[in-house]
Amino acid sequence: MSDIWRRASNLLLIIFITAVLWMILDAVKALVFLSIVLLWMVFHHIRHLVALERWLQRSDHSLASIPAGSGAWDDVFAHLARYVRAHSQSQQLLSLALERMRNVTSAMPDGIVILDDDDRIEWCNPMAEKHLGINLALDGGQQITYLVRQMQFVEFLASRQYSNPLILRQTRQHDIIVSLHIIPYGFNQKLLISRDITRFEKIETMRRDFIANVSHELRTPLTVVAGFLETLSEDNQVNPDFNKRILVLMTEQTTRMQRLIEDLLVLSRLENAQEKIKEKTVNVASLLHDIFQDAQSLSAGRHHIKLNIATQEQLLGSKEELRSAFGNLVSNAIRYTPDHGEISINWEKHNGKGLFFVQDSGIGIEAEHIPRLTERFYRVDNSRSRETGGTGLGLAIVKHVLNRHQAKLEISSQVGKGSRFNIWFPTKRLIAPDT
Ligand code: ADP
Repeated sequence: MSDIWRRASNLLLIIFITAVLWMILDAVKALVFLSIVLLWMVFHHIRHLVALERWLQRSDHSLASIPAGSGAWDDVFAHLARYVRAHSQSQQLLSLALERMRNVTSAMPDGIVILDDDDRIEWCNPMAEKHLGINLALDGGQQITYLVRQMQFVEFLASRQYSNPLILRQTRQHDIIVSLHIIPYGFNQKLLISRDITRFEKIETMRRDFIANVSHELRTPLTVVAGFLETLSEDNQVNPDFNKRILVLMTEQTTRMQRLIEDLLVLSRLENAQEKIKEKTVNVASLLHDIFQDAQSLSAGRHHIKLNIATQEQLLGSKEELRSAFGNLVSNAIRYTPDHGEISINWEKHNGKGLFFVQDSGIGIEAEHIPRLTERFYRVDNSRSRETGGTGLGLAIVKHVLNRHQAKLEISSQVGKGSRFNIWFPTKRLIAPDT
């Protein structure tokens, strides 16, 4: 109400002046005055109305573009300026929130696709584009089943049974395995969430292979032992020689199982990343002397074994783990080198790095096998490995020990001529000999 009176006060003043002029002068002059003032007022409003209309028609409604006004219009344009300022602030906040949402969804490791009630792609994040081989700019609005065409997926989408995810092994462009979850929401709309599970699937396959391998490795000696036990229990005649032979063979098989279990335990300890390496100064020369002695008793005079220690440099690491790695390479050299062959165990220093290597004149390894030798249970010749007491885990253990010591394994070999296994230790692991 007060606004109306404030706005009307000018008009009341004009009417008052007109009345005074009427009384002092005459009616004609007073009415001329009134007409001029009213005309001026109408012109004033028309001018501002035109300015407002032009502003409303503009595409940019920035603060600076608001026209200047006078009189009552000054207030109107001031209100308009306040409204524009508040609007642009809320728009800025909205675009910031949108930008943040976009950044979050782009950084998400999962793919997200929003599907409408007709399974058309409304929106998706970059990860979903990667997982499903789609392109939002080109494929937006398309039915997802035109793009992800696998029957499995089409049936999954149509089934409306979304409690379990679908594992899709062959996606459109990439050789990846994805799991797809569908979450229905709103009015028949769906949220499709994709996750790259290639790594998990590989680990799962490795786990399955590992269990199958271990079971296979244990089954053979167990079958042999079970067979002998049956023979012994059925054999009524006491035949000491025969029984002795059987007991020797049973002991061999149990030793084989024991070796396997021991290697498995070593491997699982090494793989347990939580257990940190127990670092000590290891006197390599003395450790290699011990390993040399073991090698000689394992070879039992069948090979010419040499020990060459060219440096007294010591190593920072775990003595037990290093003994196991070096020992495995030396025992392999003995087991894969025919009688009278040459084997050398060496410790040297080159360009500040420590080099341990075992060279043999054994059967050698074909080049195609070399990259796979450190895989668990990978063997070039299964029967030779087993006959010589191999578990197929030796080089896998070596690889783990070396990883924990930041050392590198190099294998070079020639079939029929022999092999050389180098281990390079980084400079930071070398410790100058005690003086
Ligand atoms: P294994 O217990 O079978 O010896 P390893 O993991 O120690 O298992 O070795 C894997 C395979 O690598 C062996 O089965 C063998 O075929 C090959 N190999 C390892 N060392 C040698 C070597 N010095 N000469 C020839 N072949 C070797």
